[in-house]
Amino acid sequence: MKKLLLFLFCHLALLSFSQSVVKTPTAGLDAIKVTDLKKDLYEHADASFKGRAAGTINELKGAAWVAERFRSIGLKPAGDNDSYFQFFDMWRNRVAATSTVSINDRSLPLWSEVAIAQMAPASIDQPIVYLGKASAIDFKNIDVKGKVVAFDAVPGITPTNISLPTWRYQRLMMNTYGNALIEKGAIALVLIADNDTENVWADAVENFKVGTYDLEGGPREKVTATVPVFWVHASAKKEIAENNAQLKANIIIERFTYPSVNIVGTIKGTDPALSKEYLLYSGHTDAHGIRNVVDGDSIYYGADDNGSVNVAMLAMARAFQKKPSKRSVIFVIHGAEEVGLLGSRWFSSHPTVPIENIVAVLNGDMIGRNTPDSAAVLGLQAPHLTSNDLAKMVLEANEEGPKFKLDTQWDRADHPEFWFFRSDHLPYARLGIPSLMYTTLLHPDYHTPKDNAANIDYTKLKKMTEWMYRTGWKVANAAQRPDRVPNFKLER
Ligand SMILES: [Zn+2]
Repeated sequence: MKKLLLFLFCHLALLSFSQSVVKTPTAGLDAIKVTDLKKDLYEHADASFKGRAAGTINELKGAAWVAERFRSIGLKPAGDNDSYFQFFDMWRNRVAATSTVSINDRSLPLWSEVAIAQMAPASIDQPIVYLGKASAIDFKNIDVKGKVVAFDAVPGITPTNISLPTWRYQRLMMNTYGNALIEKGAIALVLIADNDTENVWADAVENFKVGTYDLEGGPREKVTATVPVFWVHASAKKEIAENNAQLKANIIIERFTYPSVNIVGTIKGTDPALSKEYLLYSGHTDAHGIRNVVDGDSIYYGADDNGSVNVAMLAMARAFQKKPSKRSVIFVIHGAEEVGLLGSRWFSSHPTVPIENIVAVLNGDMIGRNTPDSAAVLGLQAPHLTSNDLAKMVLEANEEGPKFKLDTQWDRADHPEFWFFRSDHLPYARLGIPSLMYTTLLHPDYHTPKDNAANIDYTKLKKMTEWMYRTGWKVANAAQRPDRVPNFKLER
């Protein structure tokens, strides 16, 4: 009997020991507060930061605000030179304002009358060959070598659909019609807007105006296109179609570098051996800056995208600060995500801690909107699955905490938005590091001035934060680091 009691006692003690390893501490959970999330987000997404666009002084101001919060919470600086900052240079290319375009010597003001959808340096003075409806072009027999060609953009799709942002509309037009004409030797394309395109003109132009950004050596560091693509309004069609119109264009590309910055802070783990390893939380500072007016406002505040995650990271930092884990935690709020995941590409190739010691990346992108009980996590379905252990932990954490109904569509390899490729976990996942992306998915205010602090569901944001914290706590305290799926290979 005694033996049995002793056995039971030991067994229970073991059980409670193993549970205490993974049980999320109440002290940490209590440190995650709606009041902090709200106060932080109203400040971080304030109008004074003018939408924190990548490659502007406002992004740097936003980053400085984050760094100051890191300092006040007590995170140890882990950027360059013992600071919270890791600066990097971006190469930017854009159409210079001195560029000119005219049809029949009538000058078309850049962006309002003519939009340059594909940048290429050019000096053109040639007649325009009008091809009619894009869908009626006889691509097999047409001869456009050395010519400037125009056609009506009538793809029969609705670009205002939320799942088809304007830059993808442009891509679709080029993939379906434009690129074939370029392959046949056309030296410039003029796309004549249809009604659908007119509806999204203002938004599309903002995307084209920005130009491209890339890190040195990246695919968009230099402009490689040689054929410019112009959009003109439907009202220009008559002149182009009837008069054998003449295009004169002098397109000048500006190329310069501009700094962006990652904000990096750590909380040291309590275990002498495991504290050399890191759990990485990831967000991004930049949003879309000042753009075309929507309902009287032109500041694209980026409260959900991605202020929601940045303030969640501050809340989790408070939680880990209160009750540190065995492994260390590194918080990286990346710069320049919206222009090509540049901050995460930079940090993953210039890590300030040994990259092999990063055991998992928990990235968030937009976690404060939509119905209170729904959410998604990407990285659970092959080929996006990086770690079976991590997949198990994130699902357990959901069951222990918020019990969200999880969307499974957006993680699929055949989902048309390919989101797994569009946020900061990607460069880490490509290195085989166990990685997840948390999100509450799209909403009609995405990338508009209505993505502001007033439209966030703070109760839901708190639940999402707790979910990320609970997952992180498991990762940071487990005896073994999460496994890595062997031969991990993404579909693109
Ligand atoms: Zn984002």
